[in-house]
Amino acid sequence: MNPKEKLVEFLEDKHNARVQGNNKWYKLKCPFCGDSPNPNTTHFNIRISPEDNYMVKKCFQPHCTASGVLTQQDLIHMGLSDPEVLNFVSKKTKENKKIVSKINSTKLNLTLPDNPHKIVSDYFLKRTNEKLNKENIKRFRVVSNITKFYEDNKDKIEYSKRIGMLRNKESEKYHYIGFINETGTFLHVRSIDDRKIKHMKIPLVNLPFYVNHQPYSLKNNFDIKKKMYGYLGEGIFDVINALLYFNDPGFYVQTGTANGFFSQFKTFSKYYYNVQWVVLKDEDVNISLFKKLKSIYDYRFKDDLIVISNEASKDIGDFSKPIKIKKIKI
Ligand SMILES: [Zn+2]
Repeated sequence: MNPKEKLVEFLEDKHNARVQGNNKWYKLKCPFCGDSPNPNTTHFNIRISPEDNYMVKKCFQPHCTASGVLTQQDLIHMGLSDPEVLNFVSKKTKENKKIVSKINSTKLNLTLPDNPHKIVSDYFLKRTNEKLNKENIKRFRVVSNITKFYEDNKDKIEYSKRIGMLRNKESEKYHYIGFINETGTFLHVRSIDDRKIKHMKIPLVNLPFYVNHQPYSLKNNFDIKKKMYGYLGEGIFDVINALLYFNDPGFYVQTGTANGFFSQFKTFSKYYYNVQWVVLKDEDVNISLFKKLKSIYDYRFKDDLIVISNEASKDIGDFSKPIKIKKIKI
């Protein structure tokens, strides 16, 4: 048996892995997060193909961060000890990481419509106290008109049902505001007047499912040689307003959910070291979440973690509401 066959045998025997129809993906209970309590469901996937040596993993449990290239450490964690298999995987890890980072650095140069409807620019002004002029459209990567955006970029981006739906709605005079991530691969849309579809996430290119799209993030006076601030906030308007209000040098990242603080911290703290971390706490999020973050990743903090909340309102995502900033350190 070759090392790959031995690895498959290990997954099937010790982890009850089931191969999918395409003979490339194995499904099993996640050894990293423990998976869901339902014994009949599995959310963890490992790719092992007979045709190539590209081995990756991905867990679909929302709070789990296990994804990316399969490593020797993963297999040791799963109880594998055969040195031949471990060596084989270890040799391939480096090549496979290169493939993933190449996919992940795909960058689209998109055209952003700069003639927003009054309803859209009024909405942006209300939330941020900033005009939605050409500079701010570029600075915050705002998509003010989905139909025009698609027409201007259709040779570069993937058409999806979601874009089609929003275009139809726009023709019925519904209004949306969208934001694209730094690599231009992902569009986050927010409805201004239709309460049924409040948020929509639209991939603009199809990445393989084990590669995550980069989140919405902003840089401000970014200089990797100097001390930087790393802001994390749940909503896009939270991070835009944090940049406008505090104006600290560094980066500002949208996490999307409360669990997103963990995955985005994990990713960004890998790239940047000399960082003062700041989290923007929503009223409905308990401080214990950030205490947990600090204790799990304590070794990655150079300073205390600063927690910012708005005592006068829910968060800082709407500057038309009162602002009373409270700062605490963990
Ligand atoms: Zn998991």
